[in-house]
Amino acid sequence: MNLKYSYPLVNIFGITVNIDISWLFAFLLVSFSISEGFYPHLYPNYPAYYYWLTGVISAIFLFISVLLHELSHSLVAIREGIPVRDIHLFIFGGVAMIEQEPKSPFQEFKIAIAGPIMSFMLAALFFTFAYFYPKDDLFNGFINYLFLVNFFLGVFNLIPAFPLDGGRILRSILWNKKGLLKATEIASKIGNYFGNFLILMGILFFITGNFINGIWLVFLGIFIKRASKQAYLSTKLYLFLSNYRVDNFLTTMTPLFHSDPIENYITMYYPFYRTKIYPVISKNGDILYLNYEDIKKYPSFELENKTAGDFAKEIKFSVDPSDKLTTAYKIMLKNDLDEIPVMYNNTFVGLLKRDIIESIIKSKMGDIDEGSSDRR
Ligand SMILES: [Zn+2]
Repeated sequence: MNLKYSYPLVNIFGITVNIDISWLFAFLLVSFSISEGFYPHLYPNYPAYYYWLTGVISAIFLFISVLLHELSHSLVAIREGIPVRDIHLFIFGGVAMIEQEPKSPFQEFKIAIAGPIMSFMLAALFFTFAYFYPKDDLFNGFINYLFLVNFFLGVFNLIPAFPLDGGRILRSILWNKKGLLKATEIASKIGNYFGNFLILMGILFFITGNFINGIWLVFLGIFIKRASKQAYLSTKLYLFLSNYRVDNFLTTMTPLFHSDPIENYITMYYPFYRTKIYPVISKNGDILYLNYEDIKKYPSFELENKTAGDFAKEIKFSVDPSDKLTTAYKIMLKNDLDEIPVMYNNTFVGLLKRDIIESIIKSKMGDIDEGSSDRR
């Protein structure tokens, strides 16, 4: 999934809600299909702009319904101590970026079921509204529409196809008996079959003249197939990396002193270690870092008589030698770092290099999509 064109909209409970450009397309499609199809068909004899007004408002409420579903997952995750950075709304609905794999089957279950429960609660709410507003007019249609979409959101997400919520619920149930990896494998296999089924349905729709829904279903199927494979690989990678600690793979080096000539770094240390950053002990004993990318911008005559201290800067990231490799690798991917300092009680221990982690992954696991993170 490509979320390059995602724009922040609001911040709720510390979670940024982003709208992807593809969502606008979905919004127009939904508005169009209900304003020109659903409403005029079921509630005839209104002026056209009535349908469009109700249609656009309905699409906005559909968007709020999806958002509430995702917020529900996110808030339960946060309560369980798992950070949630943001929610993305895109053409196939929403995803909450939940930053870690769940720690236990029950935790996974609680986070996964929270979304469908919210959708069913909203469905019940609109159903009650419709009950107390029995008139057969456009407003009744609006309430019924929202009942239907929320009910459908709940049911669709409960299909046991990973990474849909139902797939996660299935995984949490299988987890205890089969282990996390096997459980994920089974749930994502169902995800793959379900993706194939959607593609087939899409083709059938297309052949029978329902072009837009047909194309949408094909893409949704492809999306679910890819997401289920990615989620499986992400779990496999997570489990593999959590077998190792940072100190199994760190590169040790002696820090430069702030008064050392910068030329020493360029002519000796950089060619030997080939790391983009290098530790320097500052005047007051702190550890700062040189960044090769910064220094190579200067012509060599400007570097004469300069010291390491002139270029050393602080770095806000570091890991502990006893941290799991998973933790370190996630920080590096998220912040696009090639190396991360390893510190123990404010003492520099070494650097952890990303290419070393990636070469272990490659040799032990074959191809892995880097940057794959847990999404729902
Ligand atoms: Zn969900």
